[in-house]
Amino acid sequence: MTTRGSERTRRLINDSLLPGSIAPAPELVTDATRDRRLLGALQMNDAGRIPPRALPDALARVGLRAHDVRLAESMHRLAQFPHDAALSSEEMIQVIRPNASLIERALRGSLVVPDFSSFCDEVREIHEETRMNHSGKVADYIPQLARVSPDRYGISLCTVDGQQYSVGDTTIDFSVQSCTKPINYCIALEEHDEAAFHRHVGREPSGRGFNELSLNRDNKPHNPMINAGAIATCSLIRANDSVADRFDHVMDQWAKLAGNQRAGFSNAVYLSERQSADRNFALGYFMKEKGVFPAGTDLVSTLEFYFQCCSIESSCERMAVVAATLADGGVCPTTGIRVLRPSTVRACLSLMYSCGMYDFSGEFAFSIGLPAKSGVSGALMVVVPNVMGICIWSPPLDPLGNSVRGIEFCKSLVSRFNFHNYDDLGGSLRHKRDPRRRREDLRVDAVTSLCWAASQGDLRGIQNLVARGVDLNMADYDGRTGLHLAASEGHVAVVQAFVGRGVDINPRDRWGNTPLDDAFRGAHGGVITVLEQAGARPGGASSD
Ligand code: GLN
Repeated sequence: MTTRGSERTRRLINDSLLPGSIAPAPELVTDATRDRRLLGALQMNDAGRIPPRALPDALARVGLRAHDVRLAESMHRLAQFPHDAALSSEEMIQVIRPNASLIERALRGSLVVPDFSSFCDEVREIHEETRMNHSGKVADYIPQLARVSPDRYGISLCTVDGQQYSVGDTTIDFSVQSCTKPINYCIALEEHDEAAFHRHVGREPSGRGFNELSLNRDNKPHNPMINAGAIATCSLIRANDSVADRFDHVMDQWAKLAGNQRAGFSNAVYLSERQSADRNFALGYFMKEKGVFPAGTDLVSTLEFYFQCCSIESSCERMAVVAATLADGGVCPTTGIRVLRPSTVRACLSLMYSCGMYDFSGEFAFSIGLPAKSGVSGALMVVVPNVMGICIWSPPLDPLGNSVRGIEFCKSLVSRFNFHNYDDLGGSLRHKRDPRRRREDLRVDAVTSLCWAASQGDLRGIQNLVARGVDLNMADYDGRTGLHLAASEGHVAVVQAFVGRGVDINPRDRWGNTPLDDAFRGAHGGVITVLEQAGARPGGASSD
């Protein structure tokens, strides 16, 4: 059943989906029209029915994977049909409903990189071109790194909407090495505020080698992205816990950042790192003498903790999701769960931008214009804020310690697409392409997405919006809130979620109606009970 208010909201939502920059004349788009548009993106057979595979295939074309947890309910419904079945339109709509917001955005081409397959074609092309570059030298200070084939080369990317693409050796694990530094910095910042943390570690580029025996003028390590700063950072993570619990904590964070995929650990790398760590021990003792560590720090176990963190293993696929979580301000795109505070990510990206690429950091910021962090295993994590995370892995390093192909890839990417931090200044840079949706569209999305998810009963979609900091009290131009829509459509679980999050329980729409009025009008007993228990009141408006 549809009330007049929610019909208006549907019209608003549908209007905002129409292409073109000029506002279209108001058009009443019914549910049926909307559903037809949605299904139009799916392959139908001659009889107008839809094979089950059509849905995962269409989602795969825009980079969404069938095992994505954000699609779990719909994929579960789809699995109830035999694979050679042919679904009616109504059956397919029922399949889509529980994850309607994400699926609809995907099918109507409004994920952050709408033309995902063309973008990926270019990434594949760059991979192919840069694969031919055989210069550089694999790190050989420990045998475990020296043994890795220089031909290994993988690139994975994940957008802030969880669109994923991989080419090359993207499922093989490598030790993350210095890529642990930004992650540990984030972990420490979640525990200490910025000022407290930076009493121990500075935030200026050092202009020196990553393991050089030097501190800044205040006798602190220059920043958390070089060895001295990273060792000091380790001393600030759960300092009062056992070493085992501290390491578990770091591993848990890696897993959450990677969309609940466990990180690996190489004991052999750890043992080798510890054995060849004279410089890191020297840095440790130097910092101890200068009073860098908090009182009570055990230096040897702090260093061991640091070597363990360098020996964490990831693959390109998993690390791209980690980078995407940074790109999305701390919300993991593939789970929709907030892992880090936006302020933490802001601090981390700032330091990756200025200090993440060893002695090439200034040059990288100048020519590539993106926050990044490289590791001696040949890993390179790059963040395109608000768009995507990228991981490139290719072991041969240039003399400054960065992956040769990694840098080549970034140069080529930024020559084609306007990803450099300052490419948006316009003018002469117009020849570069912009693969992302415009920001204005994303703003319109917030209120329409909220209203649409609420009217569809898409709880996961709402949780996702909450994780992104969307205000659940937002209303459309008719004053209709998500709670009005969920109440008028009888979605008890969604109403409970809104109530549980403390939204205004009695907002009035432009006709003076509250959500309770909507629930009564639709005779939704369950919703009425939840609302009344939470103290909802009728609005007492004239019914229309
Ligand atoms: N394990 C290495 C070290 O601490 C990591 C350095 C790196 O990746 N640059 O020396």
